[in-house]
Amino acid sequence: MTTLSQAGPATSVRTAEPAASLRRVTVSYGATTALHDCSLDIAAGETVALLGPSGSGKSTALKALAGFETPTSGTVHLGGRDVTTASPAQRGIGIVVQSYALFPHMSVRKNVGFGLRARRIASAETRRRVDETLRMVGMFDYADRMPDELSGGQQQRVAIARALAIRPNVLLLDEPLSALDASLRQSMVHELQQLKDKLPGLAVVYVTHDQNEALALADRIAVMRNARIESLGRTEEMFNHPPTEFSATFLGGADVLPARILEDAAAGAPLRADYLGHVLEAVAREDSAAGQTVGLAVRPWSWTVVDGGSSSNPALRVEVTGVQWRGSSHRVQAVSPETGQTLHLERTAGQPVPQVGDSLRVTVEPSEILVVPVEKSDVS
Ligand code: ADP
Repeated sequence: MTTLSQAGPATSVRTAEPAASLRRVTVSYGATTALHDCSLDIAAGETVALLGPSGSGKSTALKALAGFETPTSGTVHLGGRDVTTASPAQRGIGIVVQSYALFPHMSVRKNVGFGLRARRIASAETRRRVDETLRMVGMFDYADRMPDELSGGQQQRVAIARALAIRPNVLLLDEPLSALDASLRQSMVHELQQLKDKLPGLAVVYVTHDQNEALALADRIAVMRNARIESLGRTEEMFNHPPTEFSATFLGGADVLPARILEDAAAGAPLRADYLGHVLEAVAREDSAAGQTVGLAVRPWSWTVVDGGSSSNPALRVEVTGVQWRGSSHRVQAVSPETGQTLHLERTAGQPVPQVGDSLRVTVEPSEILVVPVEKSDVS
């Protein structure tokens, strides 16, 4: 395995300072606040995904780190150094965007060496580093090609090599795979995982609206919504115990049933709650008091269709309104006539697939229900 020498500014070993930080950064465009009071530390060697819907402020956060946007308030730090007013070139960060943005009139080799020439690195050293970086992304054999002679995936590999050639301590990736087709995206995710292994000290900020990319690549996920970091945590923790209703919906596509707790329950104990006349049992996430309103979040694959057998929770009757085939599974949309709520169920290979108009009885095991705080007001 090729391992790159980290020859950037000597910041990472000196202290435990984060490789990059946003401290209370707000970015406004006139009346629009694109990023509101955003604080985030990214450690050396860590990958943080900024995950959220379109317009939630992900790119703005990245641009503030890169120096393409100046915060209206707050500060940006790299390795503990305040770079709020430094230009992008002074920051020495590697950046890859969705559209590759290769220079069309330059060969692969020239594209990758661009940042090194701009930094007046000697030509022999430039060549050595370009070759090393191209090998790392598997593009050495294409060094003399022009960008229009490459596929989309190859162009994106070159864009990544160009970003890494300057040996940055921080790499920013803004939806780097969204221009690629689905199967290529998957193999690129795999390649990015391998790249991370080759660059153990590199801090990566990965902007995406695709939860699968975030789950595969990130050590921590920051879920963004309405110009804010709505929730932040270690990837597995965020998926298994989403801290908010929005993160449960965005990560794993849960439906959230509004419910009222019926009896006090200690953390980890059974929790009984009333969902519009249906008493459901879940597991209390924290000490919970009777009367409190909570959300019972259920992922599509957690629902089971009841066909006569007994189950811990009472069954809900739903009517199927849509069925979507997704290759390895079917996604079923169904409405509960009693509560009016739309639910989404997953049927995997081998399970019977219902038809539109079918009436089903569905249930969910207590341990499969994620208890989340309900939103106090509709933020959006
Ligand atoms: P995301 O990357 O999550 O899709 P952005 O950070 O691009 O979101 O944008 C956040 C918000 O800021 C959006 O409402 C967007 O329309 C607005 N915005 C972004 N850039 C500009 C700009 N240059 N001028 C005005 N509004 C902008």
